[in-house]
Amino acid sequence: MLSPGQRVRSRRRALAGCVIAGCIALVTGCGAAAPRPSPVMSNYERSTGNAIRRDCGYSSPLPAKPGWSVWLFCDTEVTRGQAIERLILGTGTAADGPYRAGLAPAGLSEVPTPPARPALPGTAAPQPFLPAPQGLRLPGGMLPCTGPGGYPATWISGVTRAPSAATAGPLLISYDDYCVTGAGDASAEGFGLAEYDPSSNLLGAVTLVFSSAFGPPLPQQQVLGSPVAGEDGYLYLFGFCHAAPAPAGCGIGQVFLARTVAAPAYWRNPFTYQYWTGDRWSSQAAAAGSLIPAGHPLGISVGDYSADGHGLVMIEQTSLAGGFQAWQAGSPAGPWRRILTDPVSGAPLEISRRRFPSAALADHIRTRDKTCRFPGCSIPAEKCELDHTKPYAEGGFTSEDNLGALCLRHHKLKDEDTGWTLLQTEPGYFIWTTPQGKTHEVPPEPYEEPPPPF
Ligand SMILES: [Zn+2]
Repeated sequence: MLSPGQRVRSRRRALAGCVIAGCIALVTGCGAAAPRPSPVMSNYERSTGNAIRRDCGYSSPLPAKPGWSVWLFCDTEVTRGQAIERLILGTGTAADGPYRAGLAPAGLSEVPTPPARPALPGTAAPQPFLPAPQGLRLPGGMLPCTGPGGYPATWISGVTRAPSAATAGPLLISYDDYCVTGAGDASAEGFGLAEYDPSSNLLGAVTLVFSSAFGPPLPQQQVLGSPVAGEDGYLYLFGFCHAAPAPAGCGIGQVFLARTVAAPAYWRNPFTYQYWTGDRWSSQAAAAGSLIPAGHPLGISVGDYSADGHGLVMIEQTSLAGGFQAWQAGSPAGPWRRILTDPVSGAPLEISRRRFPSAALADHIRTRDKTCRFPGCSIPAEKCELDHTKPYAEGGFTSEDNLGALCLRHHKLKDEDTGWTLLQTEPGYFIWTTPQGKTHEVPPEPYEEPPPPF
């Protein structure tokens, strides 16, 4: 049985979201047979032989230092052998180091507590990063958040490039406050945003936006993270209800979206936040609807990979062992589509701009389609070509929802200038339009879903 400490750690890990390995796997995943990323070691670990274990991990490129990223973590434990050398709880830790997209950083240097200037590269030990939260209460009462094994925690929930020049730093960090009790509970009591300048290691405004102050925990719709700056001038944030046990007022497996105007005067003001209901924006947190059909999130992390041609990507952590599934969308409100993941490694099969699908994705498409997808054509999919429904040359993804089996003849019919057009409205659902404008729908064949990867 887990000790209370282990239980809190597990739960915390679950709450805190995306594990580093998951995030890197996503970037490298891209359908290639990507090797598993090697463990990310800090220079402190290399120089002392001590080991650092950290909860959650979020990174952002350093705007003023090309090729470097800052890495933000939640609770951090330093061990020497079996002995705990150092425990940094509730304030997070930070490190930075050289980084290339798709690769794990090779040498992280710990960032000292702001505003101390970092010595880089350095071998110093991890230090607390964010200020400890003030005024948290034990769940369900007025007593201060203390007690054996308990502590008030600020857990980092995401980081993005600050979407406004009017900030004290170029990065915007989201965090959630929890009262962790020795019994293994963690109740959410706040959500906030911190402005940060990594080049000088200075924290600007650290604003507690939502706070439950007294009484019941903060509604999960307001326990936000994964800040994403939209192209439309809004700052988007995501929240979720974990699978089990679902907190009160929260549907199991839901993922929520909130927004405010992407300027400090707005994101610091709790009354400017709106929630996506599924078809409109509401100022009522309780009206928030889920972005995905019943998921299994223990944590979520959303990143904007538009610059790499992947749009927005959401990692839904589905197990403490690191299982996850990935979702993709063109804009924050969706629609979010699940990215097919490898049942063994959990890595995305394809979200890529590579032209040719991986063998696994190709197999999946042929199994799904069974035959050529032209109406009435019965040529088996094994003898078909895999067509990009939206042509690769026009920006079409090599993905589950943009590939289909077409026999040579019908592939030609589509690609040559014959007036036939083809849409894939959801994975495996094709709509052909004849040169005369008549449509033929080709729904997916009955298909047996493989067992989930966890
Ligand atoms: Zn055909």
